[in-house]
Amino acid sequence: MQRRKFLELSSLGLSGLTLPLFSYKNVAVKKPIVISTWDAGIKANKAAWEILSKNGTALDAVEKGVMITEDAISCCVGLGANPDRDGFVTLDASIMDHQFNCGSVAALERIQHPISVARKVMENTPHVLLVGEGAQKFAVASGFELKEQNLSKDAEKAYKNWLEKNEYHPVINRENKGHGPFAPNTLEDGSYNHDTIGMIALDNFGNLSGSCTTSGQGFKMRGRVDDSPIIGAGLYVDNEVGAAVSTGQGEDVIRIAGCHLVVEFMRQGNSPEIACKKAIERLIKVKGLEKCKDIQVCFIALNNKGEHGAYALHKGFNYAIQNSDYPNKLFDSKFIL
Ligand code: ASP
Repeated sequence: MQRRKFLELSSLGLSGLTLPLFSYKNVAVKKPIVISTWDAGIKANKAAWEILSKNGTALDAVEKGVMITEDAISCCVGLGANPDRDGFVTLDASIMDHQFNCGSVAALERIQHPISVARKVMENTPHVLLVGEGAQKFAVASGFELKEQNLSKDAEKAYKNWLEKNEYHPVINRENKGHGPFAPNTLEDGSYNHDTIGMIALDNFGNLSGSCTTSGQGFKMRGRVDDSPIIGAGLYVDNEVGAAVSTGQGEDVIRIAGCHLVVEFMRQGNSPEIACKKAIERLIKVKGLEKCKDIQVCFIALNNKGEHGAYALHKGFNYAIQNSDYPNKLFDSKFIL
């Protein structure tokens, strides 16, 4: 009877309020741990691990970790990334801690570390999200340097190519295809390009935090904002359960409030992998299979026991993990289509 009651409450999403999680109660907590999207996560995790392994906080780890990717000048995250269709690099980022504190920025230009501005929004304002000119003004007032409006060499080349055709359509795993549909698969140093990095960490104190930073899709409409700075869509953290972060077609992650959904599926007792899978299934249900054929959506998740998982719509997504078992390992995500 009690189980039936629990299942009824689960379907209403109320189980976490009224009954404790039962399916993980005997699992030993594995901490610290950090996971992040795509193979750029390998380098980013290392920076996060520096902090986590010295008893630092998950919040510091997820900020400093993704800053490495924002700094990589020929990467699709940060100022080296592809511009929008008007030729401007506009950046989106969000951060969330274990106490539902969160901050984000969208359409931010000429600032090297949007993730740090997002953290300042969280810590120094009564708001969650600042956009565009206002976000930039806040960043400068907070001491961030206003950089020149210059495209990186790779981005300039890709933009010129793009201008010739002027096409705009989603490309599955474009993150693994370089700067937009016309770009080479790999960078000069042999690494892949990505236009989002999402990271989640669990620290030695048992606290989770997450971060997400992106230039968004290259050659997007001016003013377009993706899922990454939308709390609940591109990132969500609930310390009582777990955290999730996404990459892929932002509009479709927003449509299903993706990361909040993953966390709620974990609250119902699902493992991180199954929770991510269920969110992908939800997307297929609401959007229809046919319309999912040309888009990629991926989630990674970590619960408060240190268990991790991922799922994607299509093949080709991977995520990096670092903890005491894995110095820094890349996992291939399972996928549905
Ligand atoms: N979510 C990003 C966007 O929609 C891109 C990505 O993660 O690949 O622009």
